Amino acid sequence: MAQWIYLNGEFVEKDKALVSVYDHGFLYGDGIFEGIRVYNGNIFKCKEHLDRLYDSAKSIMLDIPLSFGDMQNVLVESIRKNELRDGYIRLVVSRGPGDLGLDPRRSPKANVIIIVEQLAIYPEEAYLNGLKTVSVSTRRNIPDALNPKIKSLNYLNNILVKIQANLAGVGEAIMLNSQGYVAEGSSDNIFIVKRGVVYTPPCYVGALEGITRAAIIEICQKVGYPVKEEPFTLHDVYVADEVFFTGTAAEVIAVREVDARIIGSGAAGPITTHLLKEFRSVVEIDGVKVYE
Ligand code: PMP
Repeated sequence: MAQWIYLNGEFVEKDKALVSVYDHGFLYGDGIFEGIRVYNGNIFKCKEHLDRLYDSAKSIMLDIPLSFGDMQNVLVESIRKNELRDGYIRLVVSRGPGDLGLDPRRSPKANVIIIVEQLAIYPEEAYLNGLKTVSVSTRRNIPDALNPKIKSLNYLNNILVKIQANLAGVGEAIMLNSQGYVAEGSSDNIFIVKRGVVYTPPCYVGALEGITRAAIIEICQKVGYPVKEEPFTLHDVYVADEVFFTGTAAEVIAVREVDARIIGSGAAGPITTHLLKEFRSVVEIDGVKVYE
């Protein structure tokens, strides 16, 4: 079956979904994006993802040529058009074509692109046994240079982390901020558990305000795990009872080893396992329905 890409108001086939080489998203990483999951016809946390998209746009003074409501409608249409029930949405808004200069005023019209696809996720075994991970030397962008809260197309910082993860033979790695506090992974937020308390770095340390992160904080509050947004160091990660990453693609994935230190029992711990179960119980409910 053909894969339909939404491109500036039209659905076009994958091979014909092309943008200009003068697009400033391509030339300069000037733009923003979202990654969203669809679970059994439910666009999970659709509003929260769109809120983050419009906030990122406001921060970089990018005009999205669609209202919030229209954007939600085209997400729904994109899933329907591709006849998917489960998948991943990549929503990109670039500054659009301009000239070779930096000046965004020369790019009067943003490009809006929606790609929906099946998602290759970690095997179920990884959720039980946990991932091996390492810390890397690449530091998180400092918030007063490029705020990690902006989900921009400038992902070089994260790509450098991914390269180090690849070299170490792991799927995800831990990035510190410039002061040595744990920030996040290349494309996931990080949590640790110590003596029944769940910790995650506050976003000012240098982390994206992950939608999954927020969902997990909410679940902790609901099921009664104390949860704290507090800066912590690699030492705290090494001696944690449990460590896990959260992200749209990864969901809630346990970590069994960090820099050759075995975490807890060396497999997904009880709180991580419980949080994953609670998370999966809401993914088909909390969001916008595509087929009703
Ligand atoms: N941090 C970064 C840098 C990311 O790219 C992502 C993926 N969007 C996350 C964290 C996790 O965020 P979310 O739960 O919204 O997918």
